[in-house]
Amino acid sequence: MSFVPIIFGKKDWDSNHPLASQYGGIYCPNCHNFQVTPVKRREFISFWFIPVFPIFWGNQLHCPVCNWRQDFKTEDQLKKVQKEQQKVRQ
Ligand SMILES: [Zn+2]
Repeated sequence: MSFVPIIFGKKDWDSNHPLASQYGGIYCPNCHNFQVTPVKRREFISFWFIPVFPIFWGNQLHCPVCNWRQDFKTEDQLKKVQKEQQKVRQ
């Protein structure tokens, strides 16, 4: 019997969201910084470091300070968040 190494893994990364400049600096409910920006999130099951099977593909709000994340789907949701933020800032 030969030893079989674990060849499956998980690969994930964020890329810039087209609305990031418009909706940057959103309040983070976890660490209370205004650092949250929308990102495009990809998570894949990888096989020999090659991403093969998507397990998450979508938009998230991401805080680079504490790594807090929340999914969102539409720009309307971002607008709603931004509107609610105005109460926080006052
Ligand atoms: Zn945070």
